Amino acid sequence: MAIKGTEIVKRLPEGGKKNCRECGLPTCFAFAMKLASGGIAIKKCPYISPEVSSELEDALAPPIRPVTIGMGANALVVGDETVLYRHEKTFVHQPGIAVLIADDEPVEAVDGKIRKLQELQFSWVGKTLKADLLALQYKSGDPAKYTVLVNKALSAADCPLMLISEDTDALLNAHGLCAGRKPILYPVTAQNLEKVIGALKEKPAVLAIKGAGVESLVQLTHQLKEAGIEDVLLDPGSKDLQSAVRDQTLVRRAALKQGFRALGYPTVAFPCFMDADKRREMLLASMFITRYAAVIVLSDIDEHTLLPLLVQRMNIYTDPRMPMSMEEKVYPINNPDAASPVLITTNWALTYFIVASEVEASKVPVWLCVKETGGLGVLTAWAAGKFGGESVAPFIKKCGVEGMVNHRRLVIPGKVARIRNELAEALPDWQIVVGPGDANEIPGYLPALVKSWKG
Ligand code: SF4
Repeated sequence: MAIKGTEIVKRLPEGGKKNCRECGLPTCFAFAMKLASGGIAIKKCPYISPEVSSELEDALAPPIRPVTIGMGANALVVGDETVLYRHEKTFVHQPGIAVLIADDEPVEAVDGKIRKLQELQFSWVGKTLKADLLALQYKSGDPAKYTVLVNKALSAADCPLMLISEDTDALLNAHGLCAGRKPILYPVTAQNLEKVIGALKEKPAVLAIKGAGVESLVQLTHQLKEAGIEDVLLDPGSKDLQSAVRDQTLVRRAALKQGFRALGYPTVAFPCFMDADKRREMLLASMFITRYAAVIVLSDIDEHTLLPLLVQRMNIYTDPRMPMSMEEKVYPINNPDAASPVLITTNWALTYFIVASEVEASKVPVWLCVKETGGLGVLTAWAAGKFGGESVAPFIKKCGVEGMVNHRRLVIPGKVARIRNELAEALPDWQIVVGPGDANEIPGYLPALVKSWKG
């Protein structure tokens, strides 16, 4: 639980009454309030003692620590979540999806999985959806084979890596090959913890600790924190769906509701080891997306199983307070010219992509004007007073479309045919054409639209 500004101010110099303004704020109270909301650094106040500073830093740390896996542009940040339920605010960092490759798999299977990780990418409402990591498992008993696998993954893919080995020497040797990638090392247990800490030195890594239940993780995180290691993931060792739901919920609740720092880390989940049946493995993965895993390891991926998971992940990690919306502007589609039709719709992302993809598929060159409506669909925006004559007319005037075309004919969605007269009144230079309903309701929307355009 984050500390409040009213608590912070009591710890400031002279009990929060110094008010010297050297931090740039008028009072200590203002500084405390800004510090509580993350808007200013503690060091901006030169009079806070090191002890109080360290105490405040600890109290202000996020309840679930953010952890970065990998380095550079492909690094994956997980954790830093602040709510138990998505509708309370939003989930922040979507879980990484990892593909498991064991070093005893045939070369073709290994190559195929690496290729799938790279090639299975889906364009979805303006975003690119894809899996994120390779999880490399030492299973053969031959260290040379594991080295070959790690080196192959290093040269073939620039994604973050997870190293999995019950043999700690093999795990640490593999880490030596790819320390520059800041991989996840798994499992770190009570048995090998000291050895792993001793071997890490300056080499960056994320340690995924494994316990036999949630309670057993607490001692391990204490030991790691004392060693100065906080890039940690938790695996409570759940064996089935029921224990997985219980364990994930326990960890999240303890971190957020009780402020229990020892469990304030992201979690890792292994549907790949929990069920040999591929469909049930995907159901487990789906559960882990909604209930709280930060890294989810799958035995394999294909387009039929991966896409639904990725779409679910995107939906769960979309901020429910912010409708998915497009920028307000004119979008040229299929290289339109001055004689091309002008359409208008709202900036709800779903509406935009349905209309735009229909236009693209038709090959008809079109200017698509997208009006800002707070991310509402056409009819809802009209009902909310955001897509009527009074709001659309000024947009048409200022968006620049009048300079792009040599005509003055504007197609409005048929759903809001009722605004035709008021729009015609507000835009006397324009002829308002009522289009055929809405793209998501009428198959063959564009041919019908072009027909209405030609009159
Ligand atoms: Fe208060 Fe420190 Fe700011 Fe001075 S610099 S007003 S003591 S918080």
